[in-house]
Amino acid sequence: MKEPTAKHTVTLDTLTALCKRRGFIFQTAEIYGGLNGFYDYGHLGVLLKNNLRQAWQDSLYNDKGEVVFLEGALIGPEALWKASGHIEHFHDPMVDCMSCKHRFRADQIDLEKACPHCGNKKWTDVRNFNMMLKTTIGAAESSGSIGYLRPETAQSIFVNFKNILSTTRVKIPFGISQIGKAFRNEITPKQFLFRMREFEQMELEWFCKQENVKEMFDFWRTKRMQFYHNLGINKDAIRIRSHEGEELAHYSTQTDDIEYQFPFGWKELEGIAHRGNFDLRQHSTHSGKDLQVFDEETKSSYIPDVIECSVGSDRLLLALLFDSYHEDVVDNEQRSYFAFLPRLAPIKAAFFPLMKKLQEPMRAIYRQVRTVIPHIQFDVSGSIGKRYRRQDEIGTPLCFTYDFESETTQTVTVRDRDTTKQERIAIDQIIPYIQKALQNT
Ligand code: ATP
Repeated sequence: MKEPTAKHTVTLDTLTALCKRRGFIFQTAEIYGGLNGFYDYGHLGVLLKNNLRQAWQDSLYNDKGEVVFLEGALIGPEALWKASGHIEHFHDPMVDCMSCKHRFRADQIDLEKACPHCGNKKWTDVRNFNMMLKTTIGAAESSGSIGYLRPETAQSIFVNFKNILSTTRVKIPFGISQIGKAFRNEITPKQFLFRMREFEQMELEWFCKQENVKEMFDFWRTKRMQFYHNLGINKDAIRIRSHEGEELAHYSTQTDDIEYQFPFGWKELEGIAHRGNFDLRQHSTHSGKDLQVFDEETKSSYIPDVIECSVGSDRLLLALLFDSYHEDVVDNEQRSYFAFLPRLAPIKAAFFPLMKKLQEPMRAIYRQVRTVIPHIQFDVSGSIGKRYRRQDEIGTPLCFTYDFESETTQTVTVRDRDTTKQERIAIDQIIPYIQKALQNT
């Protein structure tokens, strides 16, 4: 794959419309007017997200310690969220405009100025709004049956710490990783996948000794940046920003955000935080269970420190869409394409007969390739140019075309999405050709 030829920034509206039109992402319950802050993934969106999940999992393996998996429940009992501090502290400041009744996050607007919606300046007091979604479990509405949808996946890891330790026999330092949904009743969900009320997190909790925190933090910081570089994200559009002063949680000695330059500014993509041993200590105190580990060297028990690396899958997917989107002019025609690395592209290759009457031999080739490489497409409708454009628009890296020469020479043409250059290869080389493209990225 060559470097993309053109770089354009697409607007959020154009990207959102493209995602819907091509079946990546739809608004939840759209036929009922939609639900603000919720989205459903279509076929291409699911494939792309799966590829990101896989890339994230693969990126965690390292030579310092093991990484094991967990998939926790989405709802936790009230006692858990009391212990974690979420019931008391997980709020955002909220303010309403008394004229137009619009609601805002007080830290995201200037209260010295007029309402950005109606132009009047009549604010309510700033109140704290708890962002957890509460639900009642079972038929009895007693306080014992209150549950909360988890606002972060991490707590499932902390409350399972002892179970995991005793069943996997991992030794400090080690990591517990989890991909799963989180729910936050955001005051103002916005910017498509950037701020949702239901979203997915990919989190690693890395447990280590306190004296190794600095070394481990630096290790993960470098490793996590490498992950974004390996996804092919433009290096100039990704940076690390350290939290300072009040931004830093009281139990944390260091928190760094990995930020991406969205069209609406530099924004957090991933948080890397030293959480101290705060969470395990809290759960140990509130549950009365011993969550210490035993140190063979010193023959003593301690609660390990935690370094957390937490990225939102949806926010990452949005960053990748922005970063990969390109426009250029080919044969006097404007086209747009996603320059996804082949390994990340939802569809790996497309198969076209040049004319309808050539479709049978190409369909046979397509069927055979599909047994080895899933997620390929066959397309016979419209001009060949239109078919290329359709695949470009969804980021398919390779298009194979069966033409009038194919039968006599047993070859097809293959076109590269980014350069649009074509070459002719033997039909029996199609599978290795795709495999090579996938391996090289
Ligand atoms: P923000 O400051 O943007 O609200 P945060 O600091 O509250 O984010 P964390 O609690 O650190 O976020 O969550 C870890 C990651 O989860 C974030 O870096 C982001 O990628 C993702 N995330 C958090 N909130 C949302 C949301 N409402 N919608 C989509 N992704 C989110």
